[in-house]
Amino acid sequence: MSELAIVGGGLVGALLSVYLGERGHRVDVYDKRPDFRKTGASGGRSINLALSDRGLRALSNVGLDDEVRKLCIPMHGRMIHDEKGALNFQPYGKEGQFINSISRGGLNLLLMEYANRHPHVDFHFEQSCEGYDLEEHRVLLRNASGEDHVLQPKRVFATDGAFSAMRYSLQKRPRFDYQQDYLAHGYKELSIPPAPDGGWRIEKGALHIWPRESFMLIALPNLDGSFTVTLFAPFAGPEGFDALDSEAAVQAYFEKHFPDALEHMPDLMADFFGNPTSALVTVRCYPWAYGRSLLLGDASHAIVPFYGQGMNAGFEDVRVLGDLMEQFGDNWDRIFPAFEQERKPNADAIAELAKRNFVEMRDHVANPLFLLRKKIAAAVSERHPDRFIPVYSMVSFSHIPYADALREMDRQDRLFGEILSWPEIESRWDHDYAERIDALLLGEGAAV
Ligand SMILES: Cc1cc2nc3c(=O)[nH]c(=O)nc-3n(C[C@H](O)[C@H](O)[C@H](O)COP(=O)(O)OP(=O)(O)OC[C@H]3O[C@@H](n4cnc5c(N)ncnc54)[C@H](O)[C@@H]3O)c2cc1C
Repeated sequence: MSELAIVGGGLVGALLSVYLGERGHRVDVYDKRPDFRKTGASGGRSINLALSDRGLRALSNVGLDDEVRKLCIPMHGRMIHDEKGALNFQPYGKEGQFINSISRGGLNLLLMEYANRHPHVDFHFEQSCEGYDLEEHRVLLRNASGEDHVLQPKRVFATDGAFSAMRYSLQKRPRFDYQQDYLAHGYKELSIPPAPDGGWRIEKGALHIWPRESFMLIALPNLDGSFTVTLFAPFAGPEGFDALDSEAAVQAYFEKHFPDALEHMPDLMADFFGNPTSALVTVRCYPWAYGRSLLLGDASHAIVPFYGQGMNAGFEDVRVLGDLMEQFGDNWDRIFPAFEQERKPNADAIAELAKRNFVEMRDHVANPLFLLRKKIAAAVSERHPDRFIPVYSMVSFSHIPYADALREMDRQDRLFGEILSWPEIESRWDHDYAERIDALLLGEGAAV
């Protein structure tokens, strides 16, 4: 009997296998995909993600951060592109603070190879979980030839993603709360290839955004000189995917809204009509610990990608689980409930923050009042670094619980609503209003 099983060898499952392997557990990881050491973990497409401090901390706890940093490109801020192609760089945090662009496939592979250094960690591919019988604690797996077999590990960790088969079985149980909601927006992955000399065609050290109010384009750099570009747009309506049903329509849309991106996208038509249009879902459920099973990562809390925190939150899950293993050893009966109690409020909070950041990215980043707020927040933070942290920095550059960051966002929204209404705030914020602003923002209820 395998001791511990992980269903889903994606980013969170693979990191979890490293943590469990480090503690000497015998671990079997089952994934429905073919062996991605042979096929590449993203099926040949270069898809990247933003990795920030929470994810890096989870990696550093198992000594992986240095290896991972070799796969990273630092992004120091947002590069905003307006309709005419004019650029405006907005730093993410203080000098020296950045988030990282990293290949999803490269990271998954590295985690798996690292886990495999432990002789008692094994990955099994083309093993699709078809269900979980809670009473009997039986995990049903089907291989590529359609043959079934059953596992009864001591514990099973479900990291099989947003459409988790393990969770689906639990959803049929009484008193299992489950909620999913889709955005009216979807996304499509596109690309900017490397320049002829192998370099980057646009600024490499930034996350590029073309905000257009109800839709937007973003681009993150890859190590090979390319960018992964993602169009987020409504499914329906004149600016939506449904209207982009011919090459002429796509050409006209990009010429109108993203002309300076279009000039770097020679493969636009092949990408646009070759890649799927995917939906964006938020999943909330509870409990995560059920009998001898535990849900984590996207299986327990899939969120929309606009804060770049889904993977980071999943890695933080693993880090917290690691801390609990330190505290309670192998006493899973203590670890599982403690884990879900600590993580659930934080997962709910980052789900909410991620939804709000969509509006910020596609609309507010081009709004002068929003930019003024950012400037004021940065100045207060510079004057009082120990007492005031902008919310973006809390989420991306600190380990303050997400739930505290959400509370702080509500507080800052309220106070900035007031500050931005003061007469001539645009010209007076940095001198005669400075003390009043400090008093308000550092006053009662401040998070730090
Ligand atoms: C467009 C987009 C952009 C994103 N950008 C960011 C970002 O910048 N930063 C960030 O932190 N997060 C980002 N995310 C979120 C991030 O991708 C997820 O949070 C992260 O992948 C979750 O990891 P996971 O291991 O829980 O799930 P997944 O990565 O989905 O892995 C699940 C694994 O389970 C396997 N599996 C699925 N079903 C079964 C089954 N029935 N049986 C066996 N195996 C199965 C799959 O093959 C896969 O290997 C983004 C998400 C999207 C959609």
